[in-house]
Amino acid sequence: MDTWRSCATCGVENDLDVDVCAICADERQYLPLGGQRWTTSLERAAEGCQLQITELEPDLYGLTAFPRADIGQTALLVRTPGGNLLWDVPGYLDEAGIAAVTDLGGVAAIMASHPHMYGAQLEWARAFGAPVWVSAKDRAWVRREGPELQTWSEPFAVLPGIVASQPGGHFPGSAVALWAAGADGRGVLLSGDTIAAVPAEGWVTFLRSYPNKIPLSAAVVARVAGAVADLEFDRLYDNFRGVVRADAAAAVARSAERYIGWVRGDHDADT
Ligand SMILES: [Zn+2]
Repeated sequence: MDTWRSCATCGVENDLDVDVCAICADERQYLPLGGQRWTTSLERAAEGCQLQITELEPDLYGLTAFPRADIGQTALLVRTPGGNLLWDVPGYLDEAGIAAVTDLGGVAAIMASHPHMYGAQLEWARAFGAPVWVSAKDRAWVRREGPELQTWSEPFAVLPGIVASQPGGHFPGSAVALWAAGADGRGVLLSGDTIAAVPAEGWVTFLRSYPNKIPLSAAVVARVAGAVADLEFDRLYDNFRGVVRADAAAAVARSAERYIGWVRGDHDADT
């Protein structure tokens, strides 16, 4: 496996001749105190980085790099009869990680919900001979080029039984993926942070920036919720171990309605 360079803050692989990670310099992320730092896969390995893999439900696994090698996401590996999807991508992998994922059936396709989740996507693609599907709308955020990169626009069946679409919001191409067989056939929505679970059970949220807490408009939240309103799912997994275990479609609709009321000013008298 090659040694590759990545941003030490967001973990996105980057072989461009640049001083600053464009993803972190953007208002949706942040540059750390002290400024930009880069790291390499060798440095990560020397720090003891490894991939931790947890079964979340039958045929769905969470992949998290520890110590943190990316924004802190838990990537998702969905097993299907037509091959496995790696959704959102850890910023790290090594031989042990490759062996563990191979035991789960490998990776047939890779897709990030949005550029913060690109991680080490090209490295994963090369390890498993899989394509990386990048939203055409967000293609300019890719920091490391390779022939494995393919662009997509909706509607798009990334694998049989998994359909990706782009409600947008957080990024213009912010995506979700509907896994029809998930949750015992009731349907699972992989939502990245296009739609993010929150600690209160049965609620989600939508933001332009999560670390900097920048909201979206009422119109955009209505569009995002509307884009998933016709999808059949009962459970939702976001990219930070957040889950709405049941009745998730109603949770999205209910949460959008509440959010829209607040950003529209319906409750200004209460503030
Ligand atoms: Zn970065």
